Amino acid sequence: MPKIFKFGGALLSKASNVSHMYRLVEKHKNQPLVIIVSAIGKTTNNLEKLYHISQTKNQEALRKSFFKIKKQHFNLVETLKVRNEDIIISKLEESFSHLYNKLSNNYDNYYEGYDQIISFGEKFSGIIIYHFLQNKQLPVKFIDACEIIHTDNKFTNATVKWKETESLIKQKVSTSLNNGQIILTQGFIASNGKGFITTLGREGSDFSAAIIAYSLNAREVCIWKDVPGLMNADPRIFPDAIKIPHISYNEAIELAFYGASVIHPKTIQPLKKKNIILKVCPFFQPDCTPTLINSSENDDTEIPKIILKERQTLLSISSKNLEFITEENFLRVFETINSHRVHINLMQNSAVSFSIIFNENIHKLNKILTDLNNDFILKYNQNLSLLTIRHYNDKIIKKYLNNKEVFLSQKNRTTIQILIK
Ligand code: ASP
Ligand code: MG
Repeated sequence: MPKIFKFGGALLSKASNVSHMYRLVEKHKNQPLVIIVSAIGKTTNNLEKLYHISQTKNQEALRKSFFKIKKQHFNLVETLKVRNEDIIISKLEESFSHLYNKLSNNYDNYYEGYDQIISFGEKFSGIIIYHFLQNKQLPVKFIDACEIIHTDNKFTNATVKWKETESLIKQKVSTSLNNGQIILTQGFIASNGKGFITTLGREGSDFSAAIIAYSLNAREVCIWKDVPGLMNADPRIFPDAIKIPHISYNEAIELAFYGASVIHPKTIQPLKKKNIILKVCPFFQPDCTPTLINSSENDDTEIPKIILKERQTLLSISSKNLEFITEENFLRVFETINSHRVHINLMQNSAVSFSIIFNENIHKLNKILTDLNNDFILKYNQNLSLLTIRHYNDKIIKKYLNNKEVFLSQKNRTTIQILIK
């Protein structure tokens, strides 16, 4: 039964870390292993900026932004100091020129174009990491994720065609694994099976790992992270965060749902279905015990978990004649929100208004405002934070609320959510 290793982009942005990754892989090379990599460093964000610049037709800014991304990748290759540097460089050159050409294409819509451009981050990292591992004499085989993960056409947040994908993965990955090869593929990207690239949602590489694990009936998925494991809060924001030794799939689904950025929300479900263990492993202390996620719910309420989602937008929608919000109006609002791929983090309604909270995105906000402006009164606040505490108590609420201005709050038996400034 194979193991799946997923390495996030933040880990792969430095040559020393890439070498460290090689050593981890090398330790496990005698068992069936699939490695999934995402785009290095902040490449996906940078590609997103590049795509937006390409729509302004500002050639000078476009070139500048393009070369910045190119330089980061070539710098990494240079510092890797490998014998096959020429091959990596020529493959990267080719891929970068594809990207440049695609920037001037006309796409059917914003989202289709977005995926065609944004997916290059994983293409670049795939090229670099594959050739790096090959140079180290590992029996590594590269398989393009677009050939094994097929989705519908919902660009930027595509839905997996499970049957088709499962059989593609079985066909293309199993045989090579049985032949003793280590498989390397990219996270996050897929294809609609008709020549167009789709993506699985931002930070979706964990989900790619789960799709592959599910299809191969893997034993476990290890997500390598630059933290000691799954933490009860983001240690960059809350220095007193502690490691969670073990939680259940269900608790992990809840945490991901509320925005714990450690695991992509869609990741757990396929693993749970087949009882595949998920481990969150400390990249820099590979011998320390990882966080274990499986079906046992015994430890779920032990440690309160704090999730802070920053840069939240609150949009309040009310009808112009101050009528009660009606089902018809709800339908209109949800259709608009869905058409702009906005994920609602929290919602609340009163007699005359309906409020939604979502991740700040000016582009999407403007589109929603334009669409709803004629029929509704719209008010919004930006730069808010959504604090979620699971297994809360009064002391913890007080500690984290810390006299902040509260815009809205919602509470159930296990979870409290507070929108603060
Ligand atoms: N590179 C993609 C992103 O940054 C996917 C991932 O990192 O998981 O969203
Ligand atoms: Mg990433």
